[in-house]
Amino acid sequence: MALLTIGAFARASRLSPKALRLYDELGLLRPARVDPSSGYRLYDPEQLEQARLVAWLRRLGLPLARIKDVLELPEAAAADVVRDYWHQVEAETEVRRDLAAFLVSYLSGEDAEMPENQSPLAIRYAVRTDRGLVRETNQDRAYAGQRLLAVADGYGSGAAGSAASAAAIEALREVDLPAGDLLNVMSEAARRAGSAVRDLMAADPEPDGGTTLTALLWSGSQLGLVHIGDSRAYLLRDDELFRITHDHTVVQGMVDEGKLTEDELATHPQRMLLLQALGTGDPDMRLQDARAGDRYLLCSDGLHRVLDDDTLRSVLTTVAEPEDAVGRLVELANEGGGPDNVSCVVADIEAR
Ligand code: MN
Repeated sequence: MALLTIGAFARASRLSPKALRLYDELGLLRPARVDPSSGYRLYDPEQLEQARLVAWLRRLGLPLARIKDVLELPEAAAADVVRDYWHQVEAETEVRRDLAAFLVSYLSGEDAEMPENQSPLAIRYAVRTDRGLVRETNQDRAYAGQRLLAVADGYGSGAAGSAASAAAIEALREVDLPAGDLLNVMSEAARRAGSAVRDLMAADPEPDGGTTLTALLWSGSQLGLVHIGDSRAYLLRDDELFRITHDHTVVQGMVDEGKLTEDELATHPQRMLLLQALGTGDPDMRLQDARAGDRYLLCSDGLHRVLDDDTLRSVLTTVAEPEDAVGRLVELANEGGGPDNVSCVVADIEAR
């Protein structure tokens, strides 16, 4: 097929020749050929699709480095780059919106307090999920956004596990926050997530899947914990690590009854057996007062069965950026054999 001049290709792709030259320099869209004598760039009409994709991604505001990722990654991973970017934009916009609202009232003389006295809190977070080194698929789902942090560990044969964990997280994302009392919002979130999983299982002729759920809903001053199963939530406060969830496993029940010691628990053959899962039992709920400097960790058992509390604490106290912390935790779980899917969310409460 005949090659197009940069002018003709620019018209067809609705990009300017200047933009095309920039994309070439950045390695985003190389011309099919550069005329050796004139130096003119020539494009193949088949490159139009990629040119349009670059233009759309630019219009979205995706940074150039990430556009490069989108072009190089397989489709599903490329979609994740865009999804993650958009979550980040929404989160930043929400923070700015709250700040703008504060400034409007402050400048109108309605609020005499300066921001440092009022000290509104913000959360900064990162999320990571990984297949691990042994499992063939990743049935975990993890999510972190401005109003919701969540980890769900799906189980069951075939796609049942990942469908269950995905349904739980989707149901939570639809819950509107922070309208109304946080406890009401939490019950509503738990109810919806539970029924989403039950609906899914009802549609399955041989239901054998399910999911855990450990989620934090953020109201701006409090965190609402909704938890069922053996994923966990931890709080790092003043360099001390507290586990704030209870495992709903058969063996934890035996420890609680004094039939088993904590030490025996880690190696018990039935330690994975869940006593309750989403949709079959009532999730635990608890309110946490947010304090600047607090750091939360949510994780699936693929992390906490491989790394002991001392290791978790040491990573959480020494790695400052949430993004680096989740990366390090997953890396350590995989260095420890990566026996299971591993997911974690790290969130910092900060004074704005
Ligand atoms: Mn697991």
